[in-house]
Amino acid sequence: MDDRDLLHLRRCVELAARALEKGDQPFGSVLVSGRGAVLFEDHNHVAGGDHTRHPEFEIARWAAANMTPQERAAATVYTSGEHCPMCAAAHGWVGLGRIVYAASSEQLGEWLGELGVPAPPVATLPIRAVVPDAVVDGPAPALTAEIRALHRRFHTG
Ligand SMILES: [Zn+2]
Repeated sequence: MDDRDLLHLRRCVELAARALEKGDQPFGSVLVSGRGAVLFEDHNHVAGGDHTRHPEFEIARWAAANMTPQERAAATVYTSGEHCPMCAAAHGWVGLGRIVYAASSEQLGEWLGELGVPAPPVATLPIRAVVPDAVVDGPAPALTAEIRALHRRFHTG
């Protein structure tokens, strides 16, 4: 993970903070082409009740609709929190490239456990348990405290 990776991850954290401002869960993601161009970015939209509206899932669908298989394989998905199994599967099915996450699912699980948040209905798995050949980097310790604070604010108000 280099400075450019951290720059994109910081944007993911900004998007997560924007989601929180809108009353949504604080997760944000960015899709970057093989040449380094930001192609698409999004944050969680689950506040309306559709809990499949994760940014990584939106990225997979956008990539399938707008990129060739070669472009998808060369792209990188940056995300504030490690992909859930649903998003990891979508990532794998559309053949996207490297994933860089700021906080791991394991970290998030620990934080939510400390806050007394009930376990989610879908199992938490490392990305490679879902997509064995995925290239994955993370977590980013420089961003841990900031992301943890966003989740704390979401669950404690
Ligand atoms: Zn997800």
